[in-house]
Amino acid sequence: MILAVELLRDLVRIPSPSGREDAVVARLEDEFRRLGWTPQRHGRNLTALLDGGPGPLLLLNSHTDTVPVGENWTKDPHAAQVENGRIYGRGANDAKGCLAAMILGAAQAFAKDAPKGRVLVAASCEEEVLGKGLEKLLPLLPRPDAAVVGEPTGLNPAVAQKGLIVLEIDASGRAAHAAHGGGVNAVEGAARDVLALSKLRFDKVHPALGAPTLNVTQISGGSSHNVIPDRCTLVVDIRTTPDYAPDEIVARVREAVEGSVRVRSSRLDSVATDPAHPVVQAALAANPAGKPYGSPTLSDWVFLKGVPTVKAGPGDSRRSHTPDEYLEVAELEAGVRFYEALIRNYFLKAAP
Ligand SMILES: [Zn+2]
Repeated sequence: MILAVELLRDLVRIPSPSGREDAVVARLEDEFRRLGWTPQRHGRNLTALLDGGPGPLLLLNSHTDTVPVGENWTKDPHAAQVENGRIYGRGANDAKGCLAAMILGAAQAFAKDAPKGRVLVAASCEEEVLGKGLEKLLPLLPRPDAAVVGEPTGLNPAVAQKGLIVLEIDASGRAAHAAHGGGVNAVEGAARDVLALSKLRFDKVHPALGAPTLNVTQISGGSSHNVIPDRCTLVVDIRTTPDYAPDEIVARVREAVEGSVRVRSSRLDSVATDPAHPVVQAALAANPAGKPYGSPTLSDWVFLKGVPTVKAGPGDSRRSHTPDEYLEVAELEAGVRFYEALIRNYFLKAAP
């Protein structure tokens, strides 16, 4: 069987920013065939079904795309050089390492003493832009009984994930010449709204995620130093928990502010899995040192609402999207063992 290091280095050598995953998908298609699997292309998404006989269906998903290379690299972002036990390159950590470990872990689980059940491996595109990836793929697949989303978590199982709401709040006023006075200053209205939002509290504290957070992240208003502005717009980023319906949060904001509120996005819901569910227990049994936690960052898990899911994989999310991104060889190899054990444990726990 191909070494995990070689597979990951190959994947890192093929650039795959969101929307341009074709070449890396072709490389994975070859790999699936080499493993004896039957790859299926759905656009730039790729799947293969490993069938150990009747039993539950476990989805293993990670993504093929990366963020753009960006600046300040001291290594070649696509040379996949190995130095001091680290594999460097864009996507090494997020999430090609998870993908390589998942594929080879699944291959090992089915190479001998195959578990009784089915594993669907899905390499999806456009995760970094939450685009035409898993969300478009899922309706084409049989509904999984449980899922694992491969993201760098240090092999700790994320049992909950925050959602995202983006709002725009327009303060309106009446323009006038600044020298003459009069008019209604929209910037002042927006300022009152910023202060009102800073006092808004969400009392329900989720055991893994804490309370929702709200931040005003952008403000724009005014056109000239000598004109009382008639319009000022705030952008608000809200990270949600399962304790609040998105509508409830939007309603709280509407009550708190003077301006008119527009919902730019509220489709990315918070998700959570009962820590006692077999898929979480299987992840913990695969890495007894792992600590279940709540993840503040989005991933393709948002599209798996209603499917018991755990987010886990080798690497460290603090290295994602940074220059000189890397994954340690030891982390990668532990990842392969982790996914193999997770698969075996899941089918023992879900269908003993
Ligand atoms: Zn990722």
